[in-house]
Amino acid sequence: MKNTYRKIFKWGDKREESLDKGIVKLLKEKFDFSDKDFRQHYLFGDEEITLRKACSLPGDTINRLVAICGAENIDKSDYARASHAMGYFFSELLLLRKGEVNTPPDLVVYPRTEEEIIQILQICNKENIAVTPMGGRSSVTRGLETPKGGISLDLTRHFNKILEVNEINSTATVETGVYGPAFEKQLNNFGKGYTCGHFPQSFEYSTVGGWVAARGAGQESTYYGKIDDLVLAMKVITPAGIIETKDYPASAEAWDLNKTFIGSEGCLGIITRVTLKIKRWRPQNKTFASFIFKNFESATESMRNIMQAGIGKPSLFRISDPVETATGFKIKGFENSFSDKFLRFLGYHSGERCLMFVTVDGDKEYTHLIKKKIKKIARSEGGFSIGRKPTKEWLEQRYSSAYLRDPLMDIGVMTDTVETAVSWDKLINLWTAVRAYLEKREKVHVMAHISHVYETGANLYFTFLSPMKKGKELEDYLQYHKGLVDTIHNNGGSLTHHHGIGRALAPWMEDEMGKTAMGLMQASKDYLDPGGIMNPGGTLGLR
Ligand SMILES: Cc1cc2nc3c(=O)[nH]c(=O)nc-3n(C[C@H](O)[C@H](O)[C@H](O)COP(=O)(O)OP(=O)(O)OC[C@H]3O[C@@H](n4cnc5c(N)ncnc54)[C@H](O)[C@@H]3O)c2cc1C
Repeated sequence: MKNTYRKIFKWGDKREESLDKGIVKLLKEKFDFSDKDFRQHYLFGDEEITLRKACSLPGDTINRLVAICGAENIDKSDYARASHAMGYFFSELLLLRKGEVNTPPDLVVYPRTEEEIIQILQICNKENIAVTPMGGRSSVTRGLETPKGGISLDLTRHFNKILEVNEINSTATVETGVYGPAFEKQLNNFGKGYTCGHFPQSFEYSTVGGWVAARGAGQESTYYGKIDDLVLAMKVITPAGIIETKDYPASAEAWDLNKTFIGSEGCLGIITRVTLKIKRWRPQNKTFASFIFKNFESATESMRNIMQAGIGKPSLFRISDPVETATGFKIKGFENSFSDKFLRFLGYHSGERCLMFVTVDGDKEYTHLIKKKIKKIARSEGGFSIGRKPTKEWLEQRYSSAYLRDPLMDIGVMTDTVETAVSWDKLINLWTAVRAYLEKREKVHVMAHISHVYETGANLYFTFLSPMKKGKELEDYLQYHKGLVDTIHNNGGSLTHHHGIGRALAPWMEDEMGKTAMGLMQASKDYLDPGGIMNPGGTLGLR
């Protein structure tokens, strides 16, 4: 099989091969697509990779790296370098489809031990060679680009062991290059059975190190917590030395150094191991509920009341806004069914109604009790209970919609997601403003949901689909994306709730954080990485 650009941007998952009938129908209706449009192969990227930029590291440096890691763990092939040159941000996927990999790393290195990482950093620091740590490479923020070439340090080949599961402390210590499913499976099968509880949509193709470094959140974070809440201790190898925090349950030893590295996006050092809090895995106790509300405002109000009632927390807790709800119903063929007509008869009209998905995890009596209490609050606010099925069905496809992007891009459809966190008092206003901005575009389909919920607010997650402006795909996308981030930023939303900053959101950082805060971050970087070799080129807005 040829080493094509396409091989890089495809996950290689069966689910990305085709669009199902419901989506085809939606695209025909929304964008007037004809059958011919579905047969096109736009920017297919199936050319063999040939990089214009050769590896520019001196032979002597490469020999020393080979002596450290072994020749089999150093790769300077065009395929390895191109596939470690960027992640999954929409503009990066476009560039790959166009065969434009202009600043690849010089080498991909797969270290085997922490000692090897220390030696690699010593060489790179001395010779001013950039080092970009990489896990599953699922970054959607331009967090992995290598504008200064250098070394892409890939941890997935050798740093994938679970070092300890401590049943007494309820913790797991793990090497950071392990992928989600391998980690979770081992926890599920260990002793009494445990879970990490961190299930990002990219779970199947992302690693523990990436979760921590990009400060992510899983789909059940409302109960299990964001990764920030799960990390207890870590080991980080920086150019200035090693920092190892301890797994105390809590501490008042100055400020929390874990937080310095959670969200550091490879700019300060390489996180080689982390100790995470784990919980008992009891899937048999999980309870499920789904509700339909008359509109987004009442669904959101009910969600807030549930979170603030002091009754305990659901694990999966989501609301799809009216368009996302209608889209889901259309794709599933629910529209005009008997149940649809019944719901409309009750006043739950298409284009206004919103679905709420709920699961509760934990002890059996707890999960039943919390579900009962949630039902009571939801009903009192106009939520109509529609049983377990919608939520169960949602969970069955929880990772799949990620694989739609490629078949959509194949037919010339631009699709992207942007997310933010916002306090309750600004949420509806922000949702309205972002929708209004996105919908200004001719031919666009915009969906939104809330999926990570707190007592004080929630996230908002927008997905848009629109035909690409052919020949100007990149400029068009970047302009639309800029306006979108500006709208979020000007209406009280955070730059990101869980995707991270990377280079994509870096231009907004100083305005968001303030000069002094940026100065503190820069000073930390300058101390830990005096030569500026760690993931350089503007990540996080740092020099
Ligand atoms: C389809 C799709 C769905 C997604 N859904 C979610 C979601 O639901 N929730 C969510 O949080 N994110 C989501 N993401 C974003 C992405 O998957 C997360 O940021 C993820 O945590 C990245 O993990 P990774 O192993 O792929 O890291 P990478 O993409 O390889 O790296 C991400 C960043 O972390 C740095 N890094 C990686 N490993 C280390 C390390 N060991 N030490 C220091 N720095 C390191 C890299 O340099 C880079 O800056 C999604 C992405 C895609 C493509």
